[in-house]
Amino acid sequence: MAEAAAAIPTFKLVLVGDGGTGKTTFVKRHLTGEFEKKYIATLGVEVHPLGFSTLRPILQNLGNIQFDVWDTAGQEKFGGLRDGYYINGQCGIIMFDVTSRITYKNVPNWHRDLVRVCENIPIVLTGNKVDVKERKVKAKTITFHRKKNLQYYDISAKSNYNFEKPFLWLARKLVGNAQLDFVAAPALAPPTATVDQALLEQYQQEMKEAANMPLPDEDDADL
Ligand code: GDP
Ligand code: MG
Repeated sequence: MAEAAAAIPTFKLVLVGDGGTGKTTFVKRHLTGEFEKKYIATLGVEVHPLGFSTLRPILQNLGNIQFDVWDTAGQEKFGGLRDGYYINGQCGIIMFDVTSRITYKNVPNWHRDLVRVCENIPIVLTGNKVDVKERKVKAKTITFHRKKNLQYYDISAKSNYNFEKPFLWLARKLVGNAQLDFVAAPALAPPTATVDQALLEQYQQEMKEAANMPLPDEDDADL
């Protein structure tokens, strides 16, 4: 009789952010996750199982990790999401669109809704669509993650830029190993946009400078 395969460590990842920020585009980049997704009709949610191969130094053991990424069918456009979307969430990604200021302004609301149900989970904030030349939300305005101890990454779902970064950061937190790395990249959909290299370097520089600036300290200003 075949031995049961050891279960892959699997974590529910709650993906939130305003409608139109690129959440569905982002999660569909991972081709096996897209192929194996499941639809939960009662909640109107698609769950994409995203697998990554990891290497944990020191022990040098290879292993897989899976994020079951929950994605809405668009309900967020009509207000908040039901508790069932958040319940048992073990990690989260909050997405905004760097070409739309309002989507960044709404980040504190998504964060509040998420942590109300999922206290103390690792969360990554992502600013999507950095391939677009007319960026509106600049590095110096992106401060929310510093107040709430989240990690931040610029991403571009359409170009695959930084696709793995949020998952790697979350995997390190969840496994409790800051040295964990991904070996073998997952199969991703081919890019449908390109990001200008010089622009990316400029953004990285601006982000570094912004990290050293004091935080705005108005009590009532969540941003
Ligand atoms: P959702 O409502 O958050 O799931 O957003 P969607 O994934 O449906 O994307 C909304 C729109 O943004 C679509 O027209 C996408 O093609 C576009 N989009 C998503 N990601 C990117 C990106 O990285 N760059 C650009 N330029 N457009 C994007
Ligand atoms: Mg969507």
